[in-house]
Amino acid sequence: MSRKPNRPLEQPVIRPPSEWQSTLIRVTRGCNWNRCRFCGIYPHLGQSSFSIRRFEEIAEDIEIMRARRPQAEDFFLGDADPLHGGSELIGRVIDMLYDRFPVKKVTSYARVSTLRKLGRQTIAELAARGLTRVHLGLESGDEEVLRFQRKGQSPAMVREVSGWLAAAGIEQSFYVLLGLGGTERWREHMIATAELINELQPAFVRIRRLWLYESDPVAGRSGCPLLQQVDDGSFTPQSAEGTVHELALLLERLRPSPTYLTCDHANNVVQVHGSLASDLDEMRREVRSFLALPEEQRRACCAEHRSRI
Ligand code: SF4
Repeated sequence: MSRKPNRPLEQPVIRPPSEWQSTLIRVTRGCNWNRCRFCGIYPHLGQSSFSIRRFEEIAEDIEIMRARRPQAEDFFLGDADPLHGGSELIGRVIDMLYDRFPVKKVTSYARVSTLRKLGRQTIAELAARGLTRVHLGLESGDEEVLRFQRKGQSPAMVREVSGWLAAAGIEQSFYVLLGLGGTERWREHMIATAELINELQPAFVRIRRLWLYESDPVAGRSGCPLLQQVDDGSFTPQSAEGTVHELALLLERLRPSPTYLTCDHANNVVQVHGSLASDLDEMRREVRSFLALPEEQRRACCAEHRSRI
């Protein structure tokens, strides 16, 4: 067993809500891309630079976790894009987890562009070593929205990588961001997103709403980069109620499939959850009933969900 390090355990800054029970392993720090206009979350939380941790450091953390939770079964690798650390590092981390714990699940955030660079063969090798699920920021299926937001990926790239992941047997969890097309492009944003989901049928679709957080100079926190485009008039934020119309359109365009859709973030105005195979009609009904509420009730509910915070 490794010696206990003379430093505190290092953990990822952010994890998906669905990984709340997982043991968190920090492989990289921050986001190596860090250019998405709608994000900026790592700098906001004080992690503005990106770095890859040495295997020896990660291994020390794994030993600490082993002492604390020897029966842990589920693991999440962070920060934003741990696979950018390369297949050798990730492979060694995964091997060590399986060697030390009764592992059932190893999941990770992953950028589509990073997976594309790794290539089909490496993805298959990581699956064989035990990577079971990746959390991908799809954000939108609309090429123009992705370009404007500087996501650094196209629908074609998502299609290609998703095919490799499916062939390797790695589960895919897609994140979709309501409001990302602004008032200018919300219909195209939702229609193209539904088309891509219908085609690729990821295991999960997780819905969030665009969050435009302000800077906090006292705490030294930067604001959401997209506020610059809001201020210069090139992006008009969607209203809270507008995002419910977006969700309604998305659900209308989605087709029955094995995908599980969930609004598993508190910032959604309306939260629906269910399988696209069996619950699509019920989810559509729930969203329609919200939109049929008297205006005052809708307004009161939306007032709790401003898009600029
Ligand atoms: S959305 Fe993801 S890839 Fe884009 S800047 Fe944020 S953490 Fe990085």
